Amino acid sequence: RTIDWDAIASELAGIEVIRDAAQVAKLSKDYYTYSPILRPLLDDKVADLVVRSVSEAEVLQVAQVCVRHRIPLTVRGAGTGNYGQCVPLEGGVILDLTQMQAVKWVKPGLACVEPGAKLVNIDKQTRELGWEIRMAPSTYRTATIGGFIGGGSGGIGSVTYGQLRDRGNLHAVRVVTMEDTPRIIELRGDEVQKVNHAYGTNGIITELEIPLAPAYPWAELIIAFDDFMTAARFGQALSDSDGITKKLVTVFAHPVPTYFAALRNSIPDGKHCAFVMVAEPSLEPFADLVKEFGGAVCYQKSAQEAGKGTLLMEFTWNHTTLHARSVDPTLTYLQTLFPADKHLTLVEHMYHHFGDEVMMHLEFLRTGGTAVPAALQLVRYSTPERLREIIQYHEEQGAFIANPHTYILEDGGRKTIDPVQLAFKEEIDPYGLLNPGKMRAWLERGSI
Ligand code: FAD
Repeated sequence: RTIDWDAIASELAGIEVIRDAAQVAKLSKDYYTYSPILRPLLDDKVADLVVRSVSEAEVLQVAQVCVRHRIPLTVRGAGTGNYGQCVPLEGGVILDLTQMQAVKWVKPGLACVEPGAKLVNIDKQTRELGWEIRMAPSTYRTATIGGFIGGGSGGIGSVTYGQLRDRGNLHAVRVVTMEDTPRIIELRGDEVQKVNHAYGTNGIITELEIPLAPAYPWAELIIAFDDFMTAARFGQALSDSDGITKKLVTVFAHPVPTYFAALRNSIPDGKHCAFVMVAEPSLEPFADLVKEFGGAVCYQKSAQEAGKGTLLMEFTWNHTTLHARSVDPTLTYLQTLFPADKHLTLVEHMYHHFGDEVMMHLEFLRTGGTAVPAALQLVRYSTPERLREIIQYHEEQGAFIANPHTYILEDGGRKTIDPVQLAFKEEIDPYGLLNPGKMRAWLERGSI
């Protein structure tokens, strides 16, 4: 089927349309390049044109044009996703929402924002009133809230507030549909799960109501340990210390910290480390915890100093992979959730079992009311078969793997199809135009 893109562009008159091939190619990519499995699958996928809307009314107009001509539409925020979430498998239109960036209102504990608002900019406005967003990815300075909800899972703050999918971490959304006559609908409470983490396959989010947390001055510290398991148990103990206010608890086994060139002078050779963000009023009890575990503080910035230069969070979560890959581009990574176990038995087993091939990187988060270690281990990549073997071994031993080497929604963290999301898609995107090829439930709906 040939589409007359000149005619489409003129139907979109009044809205910014980008047709320059180099720019369209760039805006068709995200950070799937961390995966040697995804690279060959996605490298040649490119949109036909990019539309940049500034308002919900414009989004409605774009949706109408795409439905009328049955053109695939893939929504894009900052394009920092890691699984090719916003790579258009079937071409068509990329709808870039980065210009819809208003913070509409802030109340104690709640804010209403547009999807293209950067997380860092939301915080700038809410912090003036003593509030901040509950959790952010380490791409805090570039990522948008719409993209975080559409394609992210959690991050800095998750040690206290859990993950995006947890009830209460997203209050309401407004969504533009892809029916014959596109509509705007509002989803509140549990209904938000119809579009939460759906890779933009279930409607175009044009507004979000998100909960906020009390804003603290966050000190940044690195604590060095002689052995990895002491560092890991310190991470668990800090995460379990209800009286200490913290936002980030990361633990790295040696040699992971050696990939951080900018911290080379701060971290002593051969040490295993915890990278933490602790509220300044909690620093005294925190020092007692460090002492109990025999750790040594080798880096400390006050909240005021931390605001300048690189943030400590920009070495954690998937920024760890970014730094490591800038030194050794053959490295890739895993995403793991270890079972709740205060002794960290399985973490210890994996640490010894894989040695240097799978380098341990723990991120503590709260799930079901308990702090557990998640992990974004660095993997020395050899072959797809070996990567599969490593994943399988983790699963057999009882670790949960959210596979970062697939662009299929259900094959990543979710594992099963979501009948609620499928039913909602059938209703609001009957032609399957939103980000086609990403939702297994839709692709296989005849056979289930
Ligand atoms: P995009 O990549 O633009 O979009 C993500 C998905 O959401 C796409 O499927 C897109 O179609 C959909 N989408 C975007 N906007 C909308 C909308 N308005 N309506 C419907 N669907 C929409 N993720 C984490 O969760 N935690 C981390 O700590 C983390 N660390 C990272 C570190 C690095 C170095 C990198 C490269 C990535 C990391 N990520 C992390 C992944 C990613 O950066 C975040 O999830 C980020 O929040 C995505 O936001 P974005 O604006 O870039 O979204």
